[in-house]
Amino acid sequence: MSSLRVGIVGAGIGGLAAAIAISRSGCSVTILEQGSDIGEIGAGIQLHPNVSRLIIRWGVDEFIKNDLVEPESINTWDYVNEELRLIGRTDPKQLKKQAGFPWWVVRRDHLYTGLAQSVAEHGAKLLVNARVEKIDDTSKPIRVTTSSGITYEFDLLVGADGLKSTVRQYIYPGLMPYAPNKLCAYRGILPFSLLYKEIPEAKLYVGNRLDTWVGAKGYVLLYPTTGGKELNVVTAAESKDYVSKMEDIDIEEFYGFYADFHPFIQKVLRLVKYTKRWPLLQTPRMPSWSNKHKNVVMIGDAIHAMQNHMAQGAGTAIEDGAFLGQAISEVVRGVITVPEAVTLFEQRRMPKAWIKQQLSFHSGTMYSLTKPEEREGRNNSGRFEVARWERNPARHEQDHIEYRSWIVSRCAETVKSLWYYDAEADADNAVLEYLMNRGKVDDFTQVSENLSHKWRSIAFGNGVDGTWVEDEVDYKHMKNSLYKTNGVARDGIREYGLNEEDYSRYGKGL
Ligand SMILES: Cc1cc2nc3c(=O)[nH]c(=O)nc-3n(C[C@H](O)[C@H](O)[C@H](O)COP(=O)(O)OP(=O)(O)OC[C@H]3O[C@@H](n4cnc5c(N)ncnc54)[C@H](O)[C@@H]3O)c2cc1C
Repeated sequence: MSSLRVGIVGAGIGGLAAAIAISRSGCSVTILEQGSDIGEIGAGIQLHPNVSRLIIRWGVDEFIKNDLVEPESINTWDYVNEELRLIGRTDPKQLKKQAGFPWWVVRRDHLYTGLAQSVAEHGAKLLVNARVEKIDDTSKPIRVTTSSGITYEFDLLVGADGLKSTVRQYIYPGLMPYAPNKLCAYRGILPFSLLYKEIPEAKLYVGNRLDTWVGAKGYVLLYPTTGGKELNVVTAAESKDYVSKMEDIDIEEFYGFYADFHPFIQKVLRLVKYTKRWPLLQTPRMPSWSNKHKNVVMIGDAIHAMQNHMAQGAGTAIEDGAFLGQAISEVVRGVITVPEAVTLFEQRRMPKAWIKQQLSFHSGTMYSLTKPEEREGRNNSGRFEVARWERNPARHEQDHIEYRSWIVSRCAETVKSLWYYDAEADADNAVLEYLMNRGKVDDFTQVSENLSHKWRSIAFGNGVDGTWVEDEVDYKHMKNSLYKTNGVARDGIREYGLNEEDYSRYGKGL
């Protein structure tokens, strides 16, 4: 473990992910969370392949595998003039083949549980009832004081404290996220058992699938969570005014937003019994995400809140944590400094987040087109992907490979930079490019001194103290299992005591 102390303000999805990633770099990590517990009860969350790859890499999926759901189909519907039209279709299997990782849906509190378990296993400390009230970065180390008067010292402070961020208030006093349009969200969960009992025809429209029902001025999104036991019903609708905080709703007004939707959707919405609306806010684009010393940095909703129409807000916060963790691992190895890591983080992540903020806004606009001619044009542009699917699902990826879907939140091919992105690999690349473009390069070998140093440092200072290995590893057992799984040489029987039965099972023919 390095002596670098990292403090994280906030144990939301972003803070927990950052704690995992930064612990994996070898730092000592402490999360300070204001709440008495962590997590948000209720609504679901989508994890796209750019996120599931990290969840898998960190082993979080193992903790929540019974709660994760991988939808079998992803559809977009419009109901115009009492006619139901399938206007978009994504094949999750095909997407997984392209992106290499699944598209999962999960209940938020289940994801929190998995992340928190992983945080604990990675050795990071999570302190609750620890609201950060004061930050002092005028000297090193940074000093952070909580509401109970306890002061902590850190070499790097990560503000993962969401929309009302205290860290952001410290760096940019007065800066608040705002509503860039009048769309608001309504969240609810229904047990499938209740749904099927009350609305028998539901079996036609829901199941292990993700369906977006678009309409004028809003949309409804349905997908399973909790290992397929519950249906997440999140909706968006355009309010009369800009909404900037959570509000109680007038339920009849709410039903009015969806009066033109398919009768099935109207029944579902009545069953959920919504009471609140969520604002859909966006943080203004800032010239930097950190303090002037580059040792206090913000991630997630604290600095780049985006509307939810791409289902990427939490995903982007997780990517931030992953990127930062990888960059900080180079600090631990003595390759770069904390300010350099933070600068690289900002250079790479700021444009990425801004693109996603714009995509999210765009996606919301496309899902809620009002003008009939625009709606018709959009729906017609999806005809090809629907027809292609019906014709020959097995081959459809080979037909018109140049085709791109208008549904940016569903079609990986349309926004490859988002769907195929690997935050840790990007951070690695950022560090390599940074090192390569400065310092000496040998004229003859063309090898950069900096890169050579970086890679040599792995051999001569791996960051892991290996002295325990000799005492604790049972080499005999290890070699035996190697023989078993790889079934190497017959000599293994003699040397490591494999018996004939083991040999015939694992070793034959090798
Ligand atoms: C309707 C809706 C649907 C969405 N669907 C998706 C989706 O499908 N996929 C997706 O990726 N994203 C989705 N999002 C976005 C996602 O919910 C957020 O982007 C994400 O939760 C932000 O995580 P965060 O960790 O940055 O912040 P938060 O979740 O807000 O966490 C901040 C944490 O900091 C703590 N905190 C605050 N101040 C302090 C302080 N001073 N001291 C200590 N602790 C403090 C808070 O208590 C909290 O625990 C959706 C959003 C909405 C509104």
